[in-house]
Amino acid sequence: MYPDQDFEQLSAERPTTSGKSPERVLHEVFGYESFRPLQGEIIHEVVSGGDALVLMPTGGGKSLCYQVPALVRPGTAIVISPLIALMQDQVAALRELGVRAAFLNSTMDFEQARATEYALSTGELDLLYCAPERLIQPSTLELLHDASISLFAIDEAHCVSQWGHDFRSDYLQLTLLANEFPSIPRIALTATADERTRKEIAERLSLTNARHFISGFDRPNIQYRIAPKTNANKQLLDFIKAEHESHCGIVYCLSRNKVDATANMLAQKGYTALPYHAGLPANDRARNQERFLREDGVIIVATIAFGMGIDKPDVRFVAHLDLPKSLEAYYQETGRAGRDGKPSTAWMVYGLQDVIKLRQMLEASQGNDHFKRIERQKLDAMLGLCEVTKCRRQVLLNYFGDELEAPCGNCDTCLNPPKTWDGTVAVQKALSCVFRTGQRFGVTHLIDVLRGSENERVQQLGHNQVSTYGIGTELSVNEWKSVFRQLVANGYLRADPEGYGALQLTEQCRPLLKGEHKVELRKDPVIKTSSSRTSSSRSGNAVKDQVTDHVGWEALRACRKQLAEKQGVPPYVIFHDTTLFDMLERKPQTLDELAGVSGVGAAKLEKYGEIFLAAIAELD
Ligand code: ADP
Ligand code: ZN
Repeated sequence: MYPDQDFEQLSAERPTTSGKSPERVLHEVFGYESFRPLQGEIIHEVVSGGDALVLMPTGGGKSLCYQVPALVRPGTAIVISPLIALMQDQVAALRELGVRAAFLNSTMDFEQARATEYALSTGELDLLYCAPERLIQPSTLELLHDASISLFAIDEAHCVSQWGHDFRSDYLQLTLLANEFPSIPRIALTATADERTRKEIAERLSLTNARHFISGFDRPNIQYRIAPKTNANKQLLDFIKAEHESHCGIVYCLSRNKVDATANMLAQKGYTALPYHAGLPANDRARNQERFLREDGVIIVATIAFGMGIDKPDVRFVAHLDLPKSLEAYYQETGRAGRDGKPSTAWMVYGLQDVIKLRQMLEASQGNDHFKRIERQKLDAMLGLCEVTKCRRQVLLNYFGDELEAPCGNCDTCLNPPKTWDGTVAVQKALSCVFRTGQRFGVTHLIDVLRGSENERVQQLGHNQVSTYGIGTELSVNEWKSVFRQLVANGYLRADPEGYGALQLTEQCRPLLKGEHKVELRKDPVIKTSSSRTSSSRSGNAVKDQVTDHVGWEALRACRKQLAEKQGVPPYVIFHDTTLFDMLERKPQTLDELAGVSGVGAAKLEKYGEIFLAAIAELD
């Protein structure tokens, strides 16, 4: 988006390590054609010595915003990153591109650390990744003062926020960068949208004068789908079988037990499914994560302990078997799908029990009223997304202060619009039944009473005598469940915090009980299990990415896999799927032609060019 001359002029003004413009670095080193929206502006700002606060969705391309300036400005760029695994992958990927990158963290021994520090002091590094706790040690700071530093990049900058979900106390000390290195540009990056967190980042990192770059939050290639939970395991299996057979994905569960059980269930059905939660020994955890990153088609089943900093580009689906606590969490977790821009699915099933469980956990949690009120609002917003009858993407983006004018055409409510029905009378019956039975019973019993069941419990309790007994035969059990779920989700009923899911009336439900308000309810759609993805204007451009030449595709993947194994790196570090697609489509015959494929930079062309040309020549 920035014409080349702008940068030529810029680089003429100040000496650079490479003497190259950002555009040239983008072409030659990274093998990409053009900057994405905002990348160009951000890079311009940092290259010319300014500070920046960058807010971009996952997969938006944050890394290039500091990697390109690191290669244009003289000196070494220091990248502060909280995640050691991520750091190592990034460094491996950069080295593949021929960039002089290294890291400093707690996994290395004294000798390795010394060698890296020496490389820094003699100016042999373009980028140095550093864990925050390492950076703030006096010895490291001394080293930095003696070295030539081009910029500081603070990745996952929301970790300074105490309100956020990933707070790290070491991040608070990063204020010292502004004081100790006032003339070196700082760029902070995050995918966490919310306004308060953003303000906090700017204050705590002394970035109040920095330019803010806020990019849209839409992830058009992700299809959002939320269905009522009937039989979660079967629903999950059907979904994977129909749409993501042999794909790599993440399945999130709330508890460790459920993680283990779900991983076993999938494994029994023949999938490579591995568990990941904080209760597993560290070695097992690391091994499972490693396999997920390196092997094809692995499904990781995990609690929310998994995922921070996982930047595997080809995760094709993220499935939630339990409801996340907030839209922030939902968006972050689902955002791990489809970083490569190809069609991916964010799939969730949820039911009344989820709502009850989360509400109870919230009320029982430590924390003052103010805190609980915020948490309650967040959960309400999450439930709002589940029960909405219009485009889910519009609701999501709106929550993050972003706007989408027209319905997206790539979420379940757009593809399969839910019908609504006049639930005024049903709601009155349901609420009245709760009241007549003393607000002491859960949904199964309430439905038994409404539908006039003759079971023992109903009789023993004398509930066959109450005035709401048998007044609800017009709806099925599942339809009543849907009514109760929506009443709880919308705050008309609440689960008794101590009462094992007993439902109680709230103040809000008074007008409904009297039938004063008309109530529109969502009719749970009948789920079609056909695998045909409906294409739409938005997912349309991604569809051309769908492979038709499967033999060719597998051949290129095998070639990539061999190289990856030889070098001990994940396959996507060699080439991304998108790059293989492009190769398959263009079938380049010369190195020159291969250089035109997106994602093939100079270093990779030299290292792998001939190998892939040979593989391509063998196709047909
Ligand atoms: P983030 O850190 O924002 O989640 P990344 O920096 O990992 O995202 O980038 C996501 C993907 O997009 C990576 O595979 C990256 O190589 C690719 N990418 C980034 N910028 C461009 C660009 N200008 N052209 C093509 N691909 C890009
Ligand atoms: Zn939509």
